Amino acid sequence: MKNVSRRSFVKKVGMGIGSTAILPSILPFHSVLAQQGNSYSGKKLNIALCGLGRYARILANGLEASQYCKLAGIVTGTPEKAETWKKKYAIPDENIYDYDNFDDIARNKDIDLVYVVLPNGMHKEFTIRSAKAGKHVIVEKPMAISVKECQEMIKACKNAGVQLALGYRLHYEPTHIELKRLGQEKVFGQVRLIEASLGFNMTNIDPNDWHLDKSLSGGGPLMNLGIYCIQSNRYVLGEEPISVTAQYIPKTKPELFVEVEEGITWQLIFPSGAVCTSTTSSNCGVDRFYAAAENGFFELSPAISYGPFIGRSSEKEFNFPVINQQAAQLDGIGKLILENKNLPIHIAGEEGLKDMQVIEGIYKLKQVRKLY
Ligand code: NAD
Repeated sequence: MKNVSRRSFVKKVGMGIGSTAILPSILPFHSVLAQQGNSYSGKKLNIALCGLGRYARILANGLEASQYCKLAGIVTGTPEKAETWKKKYAIPDENIYDYDNFDDIARNKDIDLVYVVLPNGMHKEFTIRSAKAGKHVIVEKPMAISVKECQEMIKACKNAGVQLALGYRLHYEPTHIELKRLGQEKVFGQVRLIEASLGFNMTNIDPNDWHLDKSLSGGGPLMNLGIYCIQSNRYVLGEEPISVTAQYIPKTKPELFVEVEEGITWQLIFPSGAVCTSTTSSNCGVDRFYAAAENGFFELSPAISYGPFIGRSSEKEFNFPVINQQAAQLDGIGKLILENKNLPIHIAGEEGLKDMQVIEGIYKLKQVRKLY
């Protein structure tokens, strides 16, 4: 795995930021491995990617860099893609499926886990079909498009005796592991306020893109991007929110964002009294995280994209290695499954369910006021 150090990146952008040591005690094994370049030569977890779109291509790179997982199969509805991927990744014919014959994967001993990278509205179906086929599952974010679907997926995986993991890559990223430590260990005292926002300008999106189709996306940027803000609030505070307020942002392109919101802004209150305020948008770019604690602060921007992340606390600049986030995530999950260990709750299906409960809470408010 290739690591670009924070220092070399920062030098490139000419900011002259100093170094910060990572405390080994808070780094999970796979992150240490990623930094030290150690190699594992045992059996790998054989993964079939289900859905071969944009993010599957990034995951394929992660699989190439992974020490514990390997790309062993594909599931696609497009024969041309099957041909291209087969050649590029030397995938045997018997490990290539389409959406109709997918259930035959139950008989394929060469596939251990299905990684569902389909539009959100298809996550439930393919997670449950994978579980019924006896395969472990990683499902991309958001886990599904409703709380009910998440519950059904967790139940199906439990009944089938397979593990269900979420594609939450930031749990394996050193800067975010540090954010979690600073917040949960109250290094600067209790965090009182978090501002976390994520948006991309998607106003040039193809009007036929599934992100605009509510049955496939479940919603707009809240499902796609805002979920990361909710995640960071929850893992930095180590608490679950107790109340929510929210407001839709007026649509600038109502003819495009017909079925889904164009933007939404919300606030969560946590049991400690911490307030988290966030905005997610499909009409402008924003990627930032700021936490104000009793005796200091910590912040990142960019904060949530694939990095490199730039940030600091009130004491020092961050200087963490830039890792392949997908490889680190795959290694973290793959190693535990290979060792027949249960996945920790913050990586398992229950975590996706908790985020979906917050998302449903935000959507339920429907505070639409005519502003113009
Ligand atoms: P994409 O549109 O690029 O790919 C979707 C794939 O699903 C395509 O290969 C498409 O052919 C296939 N598909 C099958 N049935 C379809 C249908 N009815 N309509 C549309 N496509 C259909 O999307 P993507 O960006 O790869 O996103 C896939 C999933 O990955 C989403 O859940 C998304 O939220 C998630 N994602 C996660 C990250 C991350 O950083 N963890 C980043 C991007 C996307």
